Amino acid sequence: MTLYLKDAIYIDWNTLAFQSGHLAVSSGDGGGIRFLDVLPPEDERGVDDRVLDCSRRLVTKSFGCGHHHIYSALARGMPAPSKIPHNFSEILEYIWWHLDKSLDTEMIEASALVSALYCAKNGVTFVIDHHASPFAVENSLETIAQAFDRVGISHLLCYEISDRDGEGPKEKGLYETDAFLGSGRQGHVGLHASFTVGDDLLNRAVELARKHGTGLHVHVAEDAVDQESCLKHHNKRVVERYAESGVLDLSRSILSHCIHLDEKEKRLIRQSDVYVVQNTESNLNNNVGVTNYRELGENIILGTDGMHSDMLRSAKAAFLAGQATEGIDMAGIYSRFRKVHEYIRANGFVGDGDNNLVILDYDSPTDISASNFLGHFVYGIDARHVESVISSGKLIVENKKLVTVAEDEILTFSREMGRKLWNKMQK
Ligand SMILES: [Zn+2]
Repeated sequence: MTLYLKDAIYIDWNTLAFQSGHLAVSSGDGGGIRFLDVLPPEDERGVDDRVLDCSRRLVTKSFGCGHHHIYSALARGMPAPSKIPHNFSEILEYIWWHLDKSLDTEMIEASALVSALYCAKNGVTFVIDHHASPFAVENSLETIAQAFDRVGISHLLCYEISDRDGEGPKEKGLYETDAFLGSGRQGHVGLHASFTVGDDLLNRAVELARKHGTGLHVHVAEDAVDQESCLKHHNKRVVERYAESGVLDLSRSILSHCIHLDEKEKRLIRQSDVYVVQNTESNLNNNVGVTNYRELGENIILGTDGMHSDMLRSAKAAFLAGQATEGIDMAGIYSRFRKVHEYIRANGFVGDGDNNLVILDYDSPTDISASNFLGHFVYGIDARHVESVISSGKLIVENKKLVTVAEDEILTFSREMGRKLWNKMQK
């Protein structure tokens, strides 16, 4: 199947060069894009081929999210917890660990579908997710994968295993991860964070990652409590612990947050091939601090930490917070926004080829070109400009509507599951 984008203004996401003309977009993991001088006449097109009029539209590569939590999707607007949290540990205990323990398989499916819907409409076609549902572990990753596939979002999934809920959920998490990765799905071995992971689990997780040729995806020093616990129980700091266990030797590993690190830990990360995810809005929301990510090297990508599914919004937040922490410039934040594509390509994952595109209806008040694109990226272009989205060569959003699954069906289901979850949490 080929999609023809007629009269588009294509922006190369690497060079920011603008090129006007027609594009042919072929589907599948091996598909790509070609520039055409003239569109093929109708009788030479395939039966499934389509022509989209892209006059006055900007077309560029779609976006990727480096750290998401679909499991938090049904939290929006839920009743306040019975005890009000006053710090990060209490936020986890009173809110997120209460919520994740209440999830069942159909709530997980609704959470994944509605997250995928939002991602699609925001132009995000690749999601790296970190999932927790300690009392519904079995088949949770395949449930999420199938929901993402239905909507048309490529993914790298993992289950965040920990010791916080005892032996049963821990063993189930290891088993679920092994089964999911063994089925041919791409993903990570997920761990929650150092302070909820004992040495037996850490060693087995690294072993499992080696077995499947992948890396770990783990929260690192999101709050100072992670470091305090590590020093108390292991007599070393968090990144040292991961380095000694082999996590940093796995190039596919993703360390999320990395806020409270000392100089030695920063050096260990800089000297490794792993990637770090910056989740500014979540860090501000949880009041856990901010950091200068430039000190961690070049492998920095952006995530939402489950707060929302809009990477343009995350980039703007990281840019604004980065003024105080590292004086980041527009080119710096754009590079960080796009770094996720390098991570995916360098590690041989599929689903993020050149045939992943957003079509933007950008009502700019001023001229836009390669020379001032970054100013438009930081201060102008946002999710409301995303008109249509192509994922692996397939049109998934057309004129701001999801076309792969009925939006009403997803929202009706997620609201029903939201009520069910909140009722369960009140008991
Ligand atoms: Zn997270």
